[in-house]
Amino acid sequence: MIDLKKINLEKAIELIKQKKISSKELVSFYLKEAEAKKELNAYIYLNSDNAIKLAEESDKRIANNNARPLEGIPIAIKDLFCTKDVLTTAASKILSNFKPAYESTVTQNLWDAGAILLGKTNLDEFAMGSSNETSFYGAALNPWSKNKKEYVPGGSSGGSASAVAGGIAIAATGTDTGGSIRQPASYCGIIGLKPTYGRCSRWGIVSFASSLDQAGPMTKTVNDAAIMLDVMAGHDKKDSTSANLEKTNFYNNLKINKKLKIGIPKQYKNDQLDKEILNFWELGKEFFKKNNCEIVEIDLPHTEYALATYYIISSAEASSNLARYDGIRYGFRKDSEEIINLYENTRSVGFGEEVKRRIMIGTYVLSAGYYDAYYLKAQKVRSKIINDFNQAFEKVDVIFTPTAPTDAFEKGTKIDDPIKMYLNDVFTVPISLAGLPAISVPIGLSKNDLPLGFQIIGKRFDEDSVLSAAKIIETNANFKKESD
Ligand code: GLN
Repeated sequence: MIDLKKINLEKAIELIKQKKISSKELVSFYLKEAEAKKELNAYIYLNSDNAIKLAEESDKRIANNNARPLEGIPIAIKDLFCTKDVLTTAASKILSNFKPAYESTVTQNLWDAGAILLGKTNLDEFAMGSSNETSFYGAALNPWSKNKKEYVPGGSSGGSASAVAGGIAIAATGTDTGGSIRQPASYCGIIGLKPTYGRCSRWGIVSFASSLDQAGPMTKTVNDAAIMLDVMAGHDKKDSTSANLEKTNFYNNLKINKKLKIGIPKQYKNDQLDKEILNFWELGKEFFKKNNCEIVEIDLPHTEYALATYYIISSAEASSNLARYDGIRYGFRKDSEEIINLYENTRSVGFGEEVKRRIMIGTYVLSAGYYDAYYLKAQKVRSKIINDFNQAFEKVDVIFTPTAPTDAFEKGTKIDDPIKMYLNDVFTVPISLAGLPAISVPIGLSKNDLPLGFQIIGKRFDEDSVLSAAKIIETNANFKKESD
């Protein structure tokens, strides 16, 4: 008997192709598990009936030897990707009844490769947050929660991370604007890859901050992330920022023995970092050295400004992107006689606290009197941060840092203090500002017995080196995957 609980995406593809398991068995297994683990609150919507129907169609294709690369594989999709005729909420009340008339390019790519929509996963409202607690549907739970303590799965792609780590999805999609794939991956002990900005199309993904948003895979293994990226990535005429590059094959390019120069940025080693994180950092360096990689200290001098820069730019873009939710065109409406009151009422009731905070910050930094002092200044600092990375990458192939300053925190401990919450993103946002690819890979367990991930950052469009370096950490750390 094959234990479906234990298999990863790579294995599932193999077993389906060899007809050792059917798509229907696999889909049914995950639907059943998802129902049984409802307390994780990882899904906003489960595609129960339709997924089984699609699995039966896949099984026919497999029987006729017409299988596509991900034939019959159920995939969990962050509820920020528009899925045609299927509820797409962005975890907001304002979109709580929204069924798009179109499919996002990334999800379409998955379906064209034979994958099946398993369900839509929970997230922070409009992907704004680092704990999943801003979701209109309530926070998803970190499956590593224990001893009556409830830990957050991280955010914003917390539902996807919780689903993969909790064994109720074999792989999932996430989106990352300032860390939302990497940080939850770190908190839940899975792999989370944010590709280079422009690698995956943004078309049909509910926009948060358009110059930063990027889709990527959240998986059990590095190989699985490469398999997913191969399908998700690609040029799309419908997204003007999508890169037009020759198709490569990340999975085939994954070689463990790439000799890499690994950069360690001085500025990331701040005094507040816990000793155990520093110890894991040393351990990671040892893993690289064992694999004939060279460790080089590097300088990223503008690191300390990244967090402020990110929150100015992302909020400015969010305030503009979210202007479209007026109660007329989308979702929820709070009626009123006067049109201006309709807008006001709809937006007051439809958006949650954090989203309103971002809209207010964004409107403020873009307003006539403050534009130069905040927005324009932030754009200039962004250029300096990009330049820091360009210079560092003249000396090294990839950069190795912690993903987040801590392990997962307890639910409720930061939600009332936005600054404390924003500080979780200190190691992930510089990479987003520079549009670089980065992955989070688990390295071990903290003293609280919770997973800790480390981040590998690459040059623009060099996901190959990022994945290879991640594989070195994965192989050596031999992290225990199951949270139960
Ligand atoms: N935590 C960050 C924020 O709240 C990042 C979110 C994201 O990457 N979507 O903006």
